[in-house]
Amino acid sequence: LTTDSDVARREAESISRRTLRANAEKFEFQAEVSRLMDIIINSLYSNKDIFLRELISNASDALDKIRFLALTDKEVLGEGDDAKLEIQIKLDKENKILSIRDRGIGMTKEDLVKNLGTIAKSGTSAIAITNYLIIYTAFVEKMQTSGDLNLIGQFGVGFYSVYLVADYVEVISKHNDDKQYVWESKADGAFAISEDQWNEPLGRGTEIRLHLRDEAQEYLDEYKLKELVKKYSEFINFPIHLWASKE
Ligand code: ADP
Ligand code: MG
Repeated sequence: LTTDSDVARREAESISRRTLRANAEKFEFQAEVSRLMDIIINSLYSNKDIFLRELISNASDALDKIRFLALTDKEVLGEGDDAKLEIQIKLDKENKILSIRDRGIGMTKEDLVKNLGTIAKSGTSAIAITNYLIIYTAFVEKMQTSGDLNLIGQFGVGFYSVYLVADYVEVISKHNDDKQYVWESKADGAFAISEDQWNEPLGRGTEIRLHLRDEAQEYLDEYKLKELVKKYSEFINFPIHLWASKE
């Protein structure tokens, strides 16, 4: 026996628990990243709020970068809404999605592969990379044994903290030098990238969509989010707008 509400529930579920796009180009995470993601996704760490700190800080960095480029070339900012250097956070209660969008520098396809797939980015020489990996491995081991994920941002891997609260994440990004792409991953060792044919054009910047885990639905509560945004935006120099959809 299926009732109307069952059908509605399954429909909502299929929207919020989408599988990776079938025709997307598939990539494997660097082993060190995969290991970190395993730790995050299985973590019992209770301070899951930190994912928002990492996302706001990344959005702010991206806005800083485009603002810096605009000092010598005003054209890069574009016109109208594109020129507004701001951050938008949306709570879609129906589909259980928290999204954060910035009008920052955005990522090309190459950036998406490199920045959201690997970690050895602290230098280009073999020694710099080896040194970094040694420190990084020690850091990951420490995080695992202590269960304390709070330092994640200091090792250039803060982005992956999204998997504390989400089991499927989409990153939609548009850089001035490339087309709009969708990066997506369920943190199972692989990620996928496709040219975006599903979403509205962003103009420029990045939108990160967190399909929230069942046990992280509290992040759809606008009062909770408002408090968190207040807490994590103290040193952020761009306006942050928060929207919540009706249930
Ligand atoms: P970190 O910020 O310390 O470099 P993260 O794991 O937080 O490490 O992010 C990895 C990289 O992904 C960033 O350095 C940046 O290049 C890219 N990135 C993440 N979020 C954004 C964003 N909103 N806009 C543009 N680039 C981003
Ligand atoms: Mg960061």
